[in-house]
Amino acid sequence: MSIIENAIDSIQIGIEDYESADDRRSISAVRNISAGILLLYKEKLCQLSPEDNKELLIKQNIRPIQNNAGEIVFEGKGHKTVDVFSIQERFKSLKVTVDWNRFNEINKLRNDLEHYYTSESPDTVREVVAKSFLLIRDFLTEYLEQDPQETLGTDAWSTLLEVSEVYSAEEEVCYASIEKIDWKYDSVKDSLKHLRCNKCHSSLVEAPYPEEDVYPTVNLHCRSCDNDFSVDDIIEQCIDDSLAGQAIRNAMDGGEPPYDSCCECAKNTYIHSEDCCVACEYELEYKNCEVCDASLGVEEQYNEGKCGSCQYSYDKHMAD
Ligand SMILES: [Zn+2]
Ligand SMILES: [Zn+2]
Ligand SMILES: [Zn+2]
Repeated sequence: MSIIENAIDSIQIGIEDYESADDRRSISAVRNISAGILLLYKEKLCQLSPEDNKELLIKQNIRPIQNNAGEIVFEGKGHKTVDVFSIQERFKSLKVTVDWNRFNEINKLRNDLEHYYTSESPDTVREVVAKSFLLIRDFLTEYLEQDPQETLGTDAWSTLLEVSEVYSAEEEVCYASIEKIDWKYDSVKDSLKHLRCNKCHSSLVEAPYPEEDVYPTVNLHCRSCDNDFSVDDIIEQCIDDSLAGQAIRNAMDGGEPPYDSCCECAKNTYIHSEDCCVACEYELEYKNCEVCDASLGVEEQYNEGKCGSCQYSYDKHMAD
């Protein structure tokens, strides 16, 4: 069977899993659909491979060799096929554009489901199906030059289309309510693209009272599991999802993290660029050392106005 046939098979079986009344097949729906997407990408790599070696670009290891005619050509080494990272790299240099943010989001949801799936997560499965649909449709049309409806078959196509349309419409309603709130801080607004229900993990979260609520007291409601919660319950997680990558990059360059633990509310939501904690709005009480004028961080507030080294000298002096 060719790669493209395998891909379509995998996606169709995934959709059958999704439609099954048996809850246990939810995970396999997600697995099959994800596997199908990767196979579509591999099909494209085969299509782009040279005529005399149609599987070259799906080999994980490619090395240059000299052929009998003395020319330099490439050959695949070993049986290992490309992983996601290599597909990303190859697509980049071959100018094949995929919405990797969406792909990574689906991949992360799949991982989460593998580890934490409960009967309260059906909406996460629906989200994966809806988001996968857009990737599948666009890739089939743009890069494999296929009519997605014809290729997937009418049954699979109409299921995907319906799930995706219903999901997008709900997502739109949620998004509109969130947009109405004045989030006060850019870092908070940015972090809300990671907003998920703290009970079922769905991203279909709305702000039910956008006219009355004033940040940081904002009510939230999950349209999937009906859970009522508030920004205070999820702000730490959102900030972490949004800034952890930056924190790692800064650390590798020997820099400071963009956020720290707040000495007032103890959440990891003290954002340096905002000069305050976005959860409790605490601002530093002591901005500079009263002795040497060095600027003071969150962790030096307990010295009540002195930096670490001035406090040390002071303690030493008092002891003598
Ligand atoms: Zn929920
Ligand atoms: Zn705080
Ligand atoms: Zn000092």
